Parts: sequence; structure tokens; C-alpha cells
Amino acid sequence: MTKPYKPATIAAHAAGEIDAQSGGVVPSIQPSTTFLRDSDYAPLREDNIYSRDNSDNLRQAEAVLRQLEGAEDTLLFPSGMAAIAAVFRTLPNGANVIVQSGIYWGTTAWVRAFCERRGITLHEIAAEGLPDACSSIKADLIFIETPSNPWLKTVDIAHIRSLTSALLVVDATAATPILTRALDHGADIVMHSATKAINGHSDVLAGVLSTRDQAADVWQAICADRKMAGAILGPFEAWLLLRAMRTLPLRVERMSQNAQLLAEFLLAHPRVSDVFYPGLPHHPGHDIAQRQMTGGFGSLLSVLVSGSRKDALQIVGKLQLFLRATSLGGVESLVEHRHTIEPDTGIPENLIRVSVGIEDIDDLIADWMQALAQ
Ligand SMILES: *Cc1c(COP(=O)(O)O)cnc(C)c1O
Repeated sequence: MTKPYKPATIAAHAAGEIDAQSGGVVPSIQPSTTFLRDSDYAPLREDNIYSRDNSDNLRQAEAVLRQLEGAEDTLLFPSGMAAIAAVFRTLPNGANVIVQSGIYWGTTAWVRAFCERRGITLHEIAAEGLPDACSSIKADLIFIETPSNPWLKTVDIAHIRSLTSALLVVDATAATPILTRALDHGADIVMHSATKAINGHSDVLAGVLSTRDQAADVWQAICADRKMAGAILGPFEAWLLLRAMRTLPLRVERMSQNAQLLAEFLLAHPRVSDVFYPGLPHHPGHDIAQRQMTGGFGSLLSVLVSGSRKDALQIVGKLQLFLRATSLGGVESLVEHRHTIEPDTGIPENLIRVSVGIEDIDDLIADWMQALAQ
């Protein structure tokens, strides 16, 4: 699709992908790992040689994401962490990086180990301190996550961009490309765990990187690394992702509405001491979120219940609709006691992280009401 269509149109039509061979309005799955050459030894198709390089299904899913993101180029990876690792692997030994602290724990844990092994100086800086750090430290790469998981801190991407010429990489998983197009705000590369809302059905693991400068050395290095080191998404996963993304704007809209209403309900409840959600006016990042997010504030929120670990676990145990499981962005609502998962990172013992799905909001609120009842 070449017209500047709106996201809902791009998504519903899967960027115009059809199956030209059969006339099917849906692309077929092409699982071949290897592709034919003719009798003169020329490939039947120059871009299909071996499926570690690329495949039609992968290109189709990437085309949708590229258009939604307003990117020059997009690459899918077999997980969000594989996408993050692909960015960091472009750094030379001895580089200097700034990484926001208090973000997705898997990122922090992997980046710490990687930087130590490679002699890279790592500055872990809280969201509030990023503007100062980015103007005073000469960094090769700055990695931010907004809104952050599980604190829901927001970072002003455009402001950070104005302070630095370092490579600016934004993990916008909790925002999705529907609510924030990070490249438009000045990010060089935007990353998402497509495992979360982009797929949205809790049945595909994938990650994605998009760039606003395809010719940049760092992007070319990432392309070469994916191809040669082989961190590639399989055709079946790419096909599932393409299918799921047809409803991405609809799902994100409903989840954001549900999350907003649930956040407001929880904040007003006497057994709740605070709710972290960028859509709440008292949230410290509300102003930034209003500028940077359009159409809602996402599906992720965290609740501080009054009392101790025991109270929090009791409430989590009483929930019936909210499934007790990690992850976020799926059509079904999930709940997680983060301190049990990462006990040593300063997560309060009374914090409950909530991923709000697309169910009926009355059912979601009723579930919390019964779980919070004394
Ligand atoms: C889940 C997640 C990741 C990691 O993605 P995987 O697909 O699980 O590898 C990275 N960042 C954020 C914000 C996430 O929520």
C-alpha cells in the first residue's frame, strides 16, 4: 500500500499483502528453508536464497510494522531480547552507554552482563535523571524505555533527542506503535517486544527494530548481524504476527480504555494506596504522556495496595478473571506480583502489576472489587 493510509487501514489490510499466486486475500505460509535456481544457476527470485536471510512471510509482517512506525526499514527478531541484543552487539569494546534504570528486568540483567564482558562503561540512570546525564556524559548509545515496566515512568523522547547526538534507542513496548511513533519524536531506532501487544494473543514470541535511517552504519551492522548470526523469526511466527496485527489498533484502543477506567477505579478504592498509570492526572509523567502518546495510555499499570506482601498476594490470589502470569499486552488480562519474580531490584512488596485486556470493563472492575473486599 503506497498511499499514506492511517494505521487502522494499514493494519486491517496487512499493508496490502495478498497471495498473488492463488488470489487469496490472505498471504500463504511459505515454510521453505531453501529456494530454487534455474538451469543457468540464477535464483528464481534474487531475494529468496535461504531462509536465514529472509522470507516472504517475514517481509510481509515487517512491511506492516514499517508503515505503522513511519520507519525507513524494519527487522523482526525471534524475541524482544534478541532485538535488544542485536543493537548492543554493534557497540565496540570500551564504548560508553546510558541505560535507563528501573526498566524491564530482562534488559537490565542482560545489558549488565554484556557490558561487563565487553569492557563497556554502563551508566544506569533513573528516568528523572536522564536529561542531566544525556547532556553531561558523552555516550555512544542511550537506551530508554517509555512508559517503563513496571514503574510506568515516562521519558520525553524529543527532549532527550535535543540534548544529545548519541544513538537514541527507545523500547516502546508498553506504548505500541499505535500510541507512540518513537521515530517521529527523534529516536534513531525503536524497539518493541512484539510478544506483547503487537501480537497480543500470547502465542508468538518476537521482537522488532525499526530505523529512521536505513543507510546508517549501525543499522547496516544490525542487518548483517541478523543475517549472519541467524537471529531470525520463522515464517509461521511471522504469519501469525501478520494475522494478529490486523486488529492491533482495535485491541490497543479497547485495552487503553479499559486500563484507564480500571486505574481510576483502583485509585479511588480505600485498600489501594497508589496507582501508576500515565493516564492518571496525578501521575508524574502525565504531561509527557499527553504529548507523546495519542489515542490512549496503554494496557499496563501497577497498583500499590495498602498493607504488606501478604495482603498483596492475598488479593492476587483472589482474582478470578485476571490470570496470574507474567507478560503483558494480550487480549486476556494478567496480573503479577513483581517482587516474587525480581526480589532484589527495589520493587515494593505491595506492588501488583496489571496488564489489562479487551474483556468487558464491568467484569474486570467486578473482579477487583471482590478481590479487594475485606
Ligand atoms: C517483554 C519485554 C521485553 C523482552 O521481550 P521478549 O519478547 O520477552 O524477549 C523487552 N522490553 C519490554 C518493555 C518488555 O515488556
